[in-house]
Amino acid sequence: MSHYEIYALKFSGPFSSSGAFVMWMKDWETLCERNYYFWCLKSPDRTILVDAGVSPQLARDRTLPDYVSPARILEGIDVDANEINHVILTHLHWDHVDGVTLFPHAKMYVQRAERDFWLHDKMALRAPFTFFLNEQTRNILKDCDHEGRMSLVEGDRHILPGIECVLAPGHSIALQAVAVNTEKGIAILGSDCAHLFRNYEEEWPSALIIDMVAWVNSVNNLKSRVSRPELLFPGHDPLMTSKFHEIAPGITRLV
Ligand SMILES: [Zn+2]
Repeated sequence: MSHYEIYALKFSGPFSSSGAFVMWMKDWETLCERNYYFWCLKSPDRTILVDAGVSPQLARDRTLPDYVSPARILEGIDVDANEINHVILTHLHWDHVDGVTLFPHAKMYVQRAERDFWLHDKMALRAPFTFFLNEQTRNILKDCDHEGRMSLVEGDRHILPGIECVLAPGHSIALQAVAVNTEKGIAILGSDCAHLFRNYEEEWPSALIIDMVAWVNSVNNLKSRVSRPELLFPGHDPLMTSKFHEIAPGITRLV
């Protein structure tokens, strides 16, 4: 089976906030930075995106610092947004999904429970959930759903050769991590199961956890599945940019 290369693409950042944002109930007095990413998996056979970033319109509305359109960034590794056929959505928070309109020919893979909550449950329309998914982005996703572009995943599932979606709730109702066959073994993009590498190393969550018991179980599960600890990647860590070789503006190769 072919191996994938994994690229981290930074579309905005850094943001600065209290350390307690990324290390729950700790580090109140320190400042911590985070970047916004999506990821690209490349093999000789196919190109897959993990998450979709944010559209130029929402980036303007939110005044995201140092924003570059995900479609533009991808040009750095010779990927045309119009030719993307597969986007795995790890969870339906705005910073991971608003950019789906940039990939008009892509099928989107999302956990059924995550889709049901964010698009069909009235609870998602109430604070504090609207912090995670604004109305405009929710409508974009609803359109995709109506167009039949969402492929619903239930639990752990191999969706493409060498690619497994792994249910990892805690940060969201049904976040899915992505286990990827690479030349170094199984790597896992955990998305916001952890914001930073430190969350995994210290087994301590960010402040943005809706189910702490589920989170601890998810961390145990992802750690048991990854071939080596350093192949488990977080969602927002600036180290994904600074610690790895930059091969094009905003793009580093993780594996
Ligand atoms: Zn996020």
